[in-house]
Amino acid sequence: MGELIEVAPGTAAWQELRVDADRSVEVYVVRGREPGPTAAVTAGIHGDEYEGVAAVGDLTNSLQSAEVRGTLILVPVANPTAFLAGTRTNPEDGANLARSFPGNPDGTPTERLAAKLFALVGSADTLIDLHSGGVEYRFLPVAGFYGAASEGNPSSEAARHFGMATRWQLPPTPGVLSYELHRRGACAIGCEYLGAGQLSAAGRADYRNGILRTLAHRGHLPPTPTTVASGRTYTGDWLLAEADGLFHPRFDIGDTVMAGTEVATITTLRNGIVQRLLSEAEGTVLALRSKAGIRRGNWGVLVGTPLEESA
Ligand SMILES: [Zn+2]
Repeated sequence: MGELIEVAPGTAAWQELRVDADRSVEVYVVRGREPGPTAAVTAGIHGDEYEGVAAVGDLTNSLQSAEVRGTLILVPVANPTAFLAGTRTNPEDGANLARSFPGNPDGTPTERLAAKLFALVGSADTLIDLHSGGVEYRFLPVAGFYGAASEGNPSSEAARHFGMATRWQLPPTPGVLSYELHRRGACAIGCEYLGAGQLSAAGRADYRNGILRTLAHRGHLPPTPTTVASGRTYTGDWLLAEADGLFHPRFDIGDTVMAGTEVATITTLRNGIVQRLLSEAEGTVLALRSKAGIRRGNWGVLVGTPLEESA
């Protein structure tokens, strides 16, 4: 990590993270005068998710090195080729960057991008990875963490300080940047905010404020007098489509459903309803497919079941 950073202590500047001869990622680095821990904030790992890109972009215009302890690495658009194409995956090879970490410097274009990003942020002490539903999905705004929902777990505490009303115990998923840092001992969180290809103004502001609060909580910025909302914490993972067809949600994100509730159906022209997506437990609809066309294996419905906070 250290050898990739070109910005001097006590200064803040853009630098280019070169991936290949013709590809690079724009990175903004803010360094305090004194050595200290490193935090990274990444957005745009999927090219069709915009709240994080806008919020991190705002911070590149406002964070001052004099107020920062340690090193902050801000990556507003981690996947520039996908961002330019407006696609979730990388058009160079169709791969999902969010399943490609820690990457391979001799691999496919996406694996090489992952390897270079991981060389920059893979040993950070703190990571905030910002996503949203992209074109195809919509998420209730959530701050996601790994491990137990408890005060003794740094990831859970960082998600709590991010300040959103809903938290999600993230499923451990190899190749996801936040999970790969978590399993190397870093304090990592991953957030989601609406989607459907839109840029939510509230999301931009909530993400910007959440980053600042979490960085203050982690000691990178002076403490701010904020109250941490108690909020609600959920666990759960996506129900997948078992057929190609049309997706019909029966509920909206944020709605409460019972165990066995039909949250959505998938239909085909000849056979009518070919799949009913039923909630496995009582809970809250955390996310839904937004695009009506659905393919077998796509995410359909994510119902979160409430999780008790422990000390
Ligand atoms: Zn994403």
